[in-house]
Amino acid sequence: MSQQVSGGMPSEKPKEAAATVTARHDAVRAALPFDDTRDFDDAARGFLGTIADAAITSEQGRTVWTLKPYGFLSDMEAPPTVDPSLWRQARLNMHHGLFEVVPGVYQVRGLDIANMTLIEGDAGVIVVDTLTSIEGARAALELYYAHRGRKPVSAVIFTHTHTDHWGGARGVVSEEDVTSGRVPLIAPNLFMEHAVSENIIAGPAMLRRAQYQFGPFLPRGPRGQVDCGLGKSMAAGAVALLRPTDLIMATGDQRSIDGVAFEFQMAPNSEAPAEMHFFVPRYKLLNLAENCTHNFHNLLPFRGADVRDALAWSGYLGEALQLWGGKAEVMCGQHHWPVWGNDRLCAMIREQRDLYKFTHDQTVRLMNHGLTASEIAEVIRLPKSLDSAWHARGYYGHIRHNVKAIYQKYLGWYDANPVNLDSLPPVEGGKKYVEYMGGAAALLTRARADFERGEFRFVAQAVSHLVFAEPDNAAARALLADTLEQLGYAAESATWRNAYLFGAQELRQGMPQVPPRAGLPRESLAALRTVQLWDMLGVRLNGPKAEGKHIVLNWTFTDTGEQFVLTLQNCALTYLAGAATETADAGFTLARSTFDAVIAKQTSFPAEVAAGHIKVTGNPMRLAELMALMDEFPRMFEIVEPKRAVVT
Ligand SMILES: [Zn+2]
Repeated sequence: MSQQVSGGMPSEKPKEAAATVTARHDAVRAALPFDDTRDFDDAARGFLGTIADAAITSEQGRTVWTLKPYGFLSDMEAPPTVDPSLWRQARLNMHHGLFEVVPGVYQVRGLDIANMTLIEGDAGVIVVDTLTSIEGARAALELYYAHRGRKPVSAVIFTHTHTDHWGGARGVVSEEDVTSGRVPLIAPNLFMEHAVSENIIAGPAMLRRAQYQFGPFLPRGPRGQVDCGLGKSMAAGAVALLRPTDLIMATGDQRSIDGVAFEFQMAPNSEAPAEMHFFVPRYKLLNLAENCTHNFHNLLPFRGADVRDALAWSGYLGEALQLWGGKAEVMCGQHHWPVWGNDRLCAMIREQRDLYKFTHDQTVRLMNHGLTASEIAEVIRLPKSLDSAWHARGYYGHIRHNVKAIYQKYLGWYDANPVNLDSLPPVEGGKKYVEYMGGAAALLTRARADFERGEFRFVAQAVSHLVFAEPDNAAARALLADTLEQLGYAAESATWRNAYLFGAQELRQGMPQVPPRAGLPRESLAALRTVQLWDMLGVRLNGPKAEGKHIVLNWTFTDTGEQFVLTLQNCALTYLAGAATETADAGFTLARSTFDAVIAKQTSFPAEVAAGHIKVTGNPMRLAELMALMDEFPRMFEIVEPKRAVVT
């Protein structure tokens, strides 16, 4: 899968776990309640059937999803190279198939990182979330039909804006179903505004960073990727965004869907910018989307995102308890397995509520005592009652990075120490550190001794300086790789493990060679407002190249009725909406859909002009001049070593 593209050393292979790491695992075994196996009962409860290895392939025969490479997780006992608590979670996430939640409510789990929940109505079935891919959603619905009989999909509910919850919608409804109004698509307010935009402006950086979070290029195995915490892995396959036809606007909103009453609760700016919970009285079913899962979730995923609001998150869980804590008999989410029984589900919601509240409040308390983010991460400890709750463990998020997210939310990147106001970047700083430490050989000697003592965190910091100073120093790369690997083996968080192990792999093998990033699909483009397209263009403008340029373009979109003046001046691209100027260099009149097709590279601007789909006034070459100033972003860039490309 991966080939050497930079200074890697393909001969270096994964190593055994160090004694200090296995000692740490022994301490985990002693500290956590491994004899409490109710989660395994719950994850298996109501099993009706599955497809072999949960394997899903596309029509072209490409693997969209499979659990086959995870067969090694059938061992009960964690190997020395995996934290036993993470191993337990990775085994729980192996359950796959169709499960009865209560008669009339079913879940497909383990066919994607997320779940599909199916709620039977009077005439058909209501589908809650549609997995990441069209192929996956289709397979999930077929699995349901195989056990419950074929019936029409009477509605689709999207609980929130992340792709693993809507990407496969076209696998359960046709365009005709939606446009005719036969099947409502129900979503929280501002769904379209956030479904795509969260990953747009910074998309190229996020996608590369996501490789470190999920580990798609790591081998599966005891020395590689074992889980993501929330589920196994990212799914491949075809994705299409469908526009909701019915938005839930406020807590307390109700709907009767296929004869079934639903009560909704809004939860914006929690796990996603637009998210909602609901209660179904007929089934005494509470669905808390992705805000009450069997792990400490992320306040800031490693891929990068807007920081999530821990205080609001906790508040929504408290409100859900208040609204339905006296009524619900089963609770499910859109990841992991349900919890049955009013006492147990209320206990879990209370603990999750307090997990986010405790972390928020104690972080802010320590902040107000003057502690910085890394200092808070070092001292904060969950109370025993939460620390020993399996669902509060940091398999996806982790308290040690969630506190940094809270710090960032309130205070930002700067720790207020002016030493860190304008510190040298990694290469320049690395060279000085190595020099001050007495050179590469002296640094490595000390680092090796610390490695033997298990001081991996500092060894990683110190040797990283050397790798940035001397990226082709094979001994430095090897020691840093070995160090990150031990940190990965020791990590309870799946995302930490993936990050460390992928860092080690890239130091050994270089970055994986992968085809260039595909452009945005046209359906996603169509979901964007025109101003978002201008914003995307703005961040591609190469400022230095634009020095001295002044370009003004009028745009008229016939299908949306919009007008814009797009101006390049002072190396910045700005726009004015609802306006046109007589002094423009050129003007273009076209349909937004034509513009989308050009951006999606389904056609070209000159071809559409020639076909008469774009009307031009003035000098159209000024647009070509502007487009020549746009950067193309690489799919891959160095992370654990200096950038080979010079970027200014
Ligand atoms: Zn999700």
